[in-house]
Amino acid sequence: MQGNVQVSRFGDGVGRPTWIEIQREALVENVRQIRRRIGPERLLMAVVKANGYGHDASLVAPIFLEAGADRLAVATLAEAVPLRQAGVTAPILILGYTPAWQAEAAVRLELTATVYDLETARALDQAAAALGRRIPVHVKVNTGMNRLGLLPEAVPPFLAALQMYRHLDVEGIFTHFATADAEDKTFAHEQLGRFQRLLAELEAAGLRPPLAHAANSAATLTLPQAHLDMVRCGIALYGLDPDVDECPLPPGFRPALSWKAQVAHVMALQPGDGVSYGHEFVASRPMVAAVIPVGYADGFPRAPLHWRNVLIHGAPAPILGRVCMDQTIVDVTDIVASAGPVRQGDEVVLIGRQGRQELSAEEVGRRLGTINYDVVSRILARVPRVLVG
Ligand SMILES: *Cc1c(COP(=O)(O)O)cnc(C)c1O
Repeated sequence: MQGNVQVSRFGDGVGRPTWIEIQREALVENVRQIRRRIGPERLLMAVVKANGYGHDASLVAPIFLEAGADRLAVATLAEAVPLRQAGVTAPILILGYTPAWQAEAAVRLELTATVYDLETARALDQAAAALGRRIPVHVKVNTGMNRLGLLPEAVPPFLAALQMYRHLDVEGIFTHFATADAEDKTFAHEQLGRFQRLLAELEAAGLRPPLAHAANSAATLTLPQAHLDMVRCGIALYGLDPDVDECPLPPGFRPALSWKAQVAHVMALQPGDGVSYGHEFVASRPMVAAVIPVGYADGFPRAPLHWRNVLIHGAPAPILGRVCMDQTIVDVTDIVASAGPVRQGDEVVLIGRQGRQELSAEEVGRRLGTINYDVVSRILARVPRVLVG
């Protein structure tokens, strides 16, 4: 849709003249694309941490599950709360650190905890016992990411020790790749080898938990040996590249997120007019400027680097001067000259397609000196998310 946005997507009239559109069909297709690669039996865990990579976890999680994902993962216990409140009953794995003081909440919310130390395991066991329940846990193994987890040699005694905790259900064991999105898979193979040798040892000792998993999106797409019992996909399910240069998505995946806004104001600038705080930009010719109701407090960064431009009438409109907290001024002089007047209410695209132009999260990441993951997950909660399609 170009030109004036006539109908608000927000039936209650609240909303905002900036919003995120999430395409249901793209999410469904991305799940299908992953399912095709892993087969019908293997489990698919949809990673919805960081508010579903900025897409709204409560909006996307039910769609992923309906489309064929089996389980969910979040980074923190608090991220699971809105999902349970939204009525999601699927298993949810907390990938990160769950301190002992959250053990009771983890049991009450029927979550699955990641464990890599006996103190946490004991706290979870005690909380489950006190509530007359059991809690599933997955043991984290550090095979070379050097973030969370036990070294492989520490895992067999750890699993043996966990047997004394009667209220823990040791359901899974997992590791995480450091370089699966790089073209050079040497170290990913090394990590997988370490994990597989450990699994064989556990198997022989009768200690192997039923669900072994390792693959993120990049490994799911490029390292089928790593599929094991379950894959944990995030970025690919949103239709974004695991790495824009070295691990782009194959054809068939589609980005689900667009970020749009409506022009708030249009004005003429005379030579010598300064724009925005500090007058960092000064017009040197007659210009037309448009104001968009989006700023750094929406996750549209001010510094050190900004978006450079947005799309209006299917053409790039460069940012003029400093990005403000809630508003940004853009140059529409050339757009007006070639495509006619820009008016209040006209559609602005910050991420997504408009006409023949596309501004992808990958391209924005390049401009901001970061990655697409960072671009979408930093879009703040005050930008409303709506499902389309
Ligand atoms: C974020 C995360 C994933 C998903 O990674 P993608 O690259 O988004 O597929 C999988 N496993 C763990 C442990 C993670 O932290």
